[in-house]
Amino acid sequence: MPGQCAAKAVREGLSPMSALRPSPITPTVDFERDGVQHGFLRLPYSRDDSAWGSVMIPICVIRNGRGPAALLTGGNHGDEYEGPLALYELARTLDPKDVAGTVIIVPAMNYPAFRAGTRTSPIDKGNMNRSFPGRPDGTVTEKIADYFQRELLPRADIVFDFHSGGRTLDFVPFCAAHTLPDKVQEKKAFAAVEAFSAPFSMRMTEIDTVGMYDTAAEEMGKVFVTTELGGGGTSRAETVGIARRGILNVLRHAGIVDGAVEKTPTRWLDMPSGDCFAFAEDDGMIETMIDLGEKVDEGQVVARIHSTGRTGMAPQEIKARMSGLLAARHFPGLVKAGDCVSVMATVEAVNI
Ligand SMILES: [Zn+2]
Repeated sequence: MPGQCAAKAVREGLSPMSALRPSPITPTVDFERDGVQHGFLRLPYSRDDSAWGSVMIPICVIRNGRGPAALLTGGNHGDEYEGPLALYELARTLDPKDVAGTVIIVPAMNYPAFRAGTRTSPIDKGNMNRSFPGRPDGTVTEKIADYFQRELLPRADIVFDFHSGGRTLDFVPFCAAHTLPDKVQEKKAFAAVEAFSAPFSMRMTEIDTVGMYDTAAEEMGKVFVTTELGGGGTSRAETVGIARRGILNVLRHAGIVDGAVEKTPTRWLDMPSGDCFAFAEDDGMIETMIDLGEKVDEGQVVARIHSTGRTGMAPQEIKARMSGLLAARHFPGLVKAGDCVSVMATVEAVNI
């Protein structure tokens, strides 16, 4: 009912017109066609150097008949590389003969950010993972989010979104899903995490879920799985290998790609409360006192922040607010007040 749509749009802060407006994005692929298609999501973007120009977001559709559909994304943040490296390769190598159903691959979701090597878009400063459900009449980032919200997510049964730490964070390599009110949906997501077989598997807690792609997919009832694989604005051989093996495992687990899941041992971690996060209260130079993956006791100093404006100042100590394992840390050598310095996780179990 258009009237109900309009009322929902108003509740969500959209004008009734914008909710009814079609997306300005045109795909050059046909989602119903069998075989492999390498194409684009073409988003008109008029600017100084191209009056009638477009943003061309690469997309690959691999389909073989009816069956479940997977939507795979990297580059949600533009400075994270394990996902794009795994997904450009998957798009190049996955044979439709080995597929039952559909695999939709968008290896660089926030393509302007990915091209710039930055977390957010250089066009509008949009953080893709804070822009959902997006707007068809919004900024470039909001228009991409809206296309995923209304056109791509509804096509998927399973949604896999690769992340890493980017330039400012570094993580132990883990695959993750969230605790959800719908326990059937939650169980399916954690089963896919287990199939991914990263060295660590996480029950993930978010600092703020508003505007996240994760939340949009989960509220639509999709099986949503994500990762944090390393960081620092680069990638490592180990973490790229984890990404490539893992995504094939998830597609096998979902029954979309032929073959058995190649499971390796994983350590289950939990982020049981907001106590897992520590934030800097001063600017300065950061000294990591323990390394990623090491055990930490509550009250232990995980990092020190040294004031550099003058000599003779005692460093600020950052103490763990819970016992566990250091799952993530601030990556650059300099830190600002409010930066996330460390993330702790409890070790739940080792599954083989
Ligand atoms: Zn990210």
